Amino acid sequence: MNSLALKGNPGDGERMAIMSGRHQAFGLWGLLLLIVMAHGCAPGGSTEVGPRAPVPPVSAVGLAPDEPLRVVATTSIVADVVRNVGGDAIALTQLMPLGADPHAFESTPQDAGVISDAHVVFINGVGLEVFMDRLLASAGGNTPVVTVSDGIRLLAFAGEHADDEALADEDHGEDDPHVWFDPNNVKVWVANIESALSELDPDRATTYRENAQAYLAELDALDGWIREAVTVIPEDRRGLVIDHSVFTYFAHAYGFEQVGTITTGGSTLSQPSAREMAALQEAIVDHGVRAIFVSTTVNPRMAEQLARDTGIQVVPIYTGSLSDASGPAGTYLAFMRYDVGRIVEALR
Ligand SMILES: [Zn+2]
Repeated sequence: MNSLALKGNPGDGERMAIMSGRHQAFGLWGLLLLIVMAHGCAPGGSTEVGPRAPVPPVSAVGLAPDEPLRVVATTSIVADVVRNVGGDAIALTQLMPLGADPHAFESTPQDAGVISDAHVVFINGVGLEVFMDRLLASAGGNTPVVTVSDGIRLLAFAGEHADDEALADEDHGEDDPHVWFDPNNVKVWVANIESALSELDPDRATTYRENAQAYLAELDALDGWIREAVTVIPEDRRGLVIDHSVFTYFAHAYGFEQVGTITTGGSTLSQPSAREMAALQEAIVDHGVRAIFVSTTVNPRMAEQLARDTGIQVVPIYTGSLSDASGPAGTYLAFMRYDVGRIVEALR
């Protein structure tokens, strides 16, 4: 099998973390949990998948001289990076609409048609696109799938619960899918995308290589800009709390600590218990956390309640989707600059 073919299991990141209770639950949270459905999916919804069907390898497709490669990308963030490498040489379809929560996205029968017509599908992988196995099966399984995150050094999702003793005893090292919060990981995406496009469409390999080189330089510039921007945040204010575990790679790259998340595990699909919410409230106080960041793609009510109870602010950021082109996060580069700007404003 070609090394670019899909290797990860899209279900891997979605198993829920197990909590051991150390803290007393607050009655208010119990009540809130009855009222608030933070996400569209039922807790514990099955994400088990069967054995993966073989995926066709990436190899040259016969294109007419003016025929563009037909390319599908799952999230708006993956699509933006693919667009930067493919440029005008590809016809790109973005599967998820802007504002969709990639963890909770459900594909349509039309999506299966888009996949089966494509020459290649680019996915984030690492368990982000839970819907993908079923979609590929209904699309007939003839389209090569490239996991852009292949080759990235993956980290287990981090948070208040990750160092829990009960968890430390078992192999709970589930990989966090939010790799794009470190631009150095997106450089791996670019290499994977360039390599796949060049194998599929060798006549335009020079174009893809030049586009990739130019974009890699922009990613380096972004990384340098972030390093500089965060220097104004003192060491003792670098605790991050967020609705779900998006800051694992950002924290690792830029010297922060993700001290807690409202939703445990690597996804938005689980529901916190009252005990987990109480533990998070305690962590916010213990770590002197100054803000709760909340994804534009999830319901903010639990974050808002937590912020009220702890007297800190809620700061909306983009996490799993770009904004529309006229918004503040219309490209991946703008998305990162916007989010880092909000983090700096809130914590400096
Ligand atoms: Zn996410």
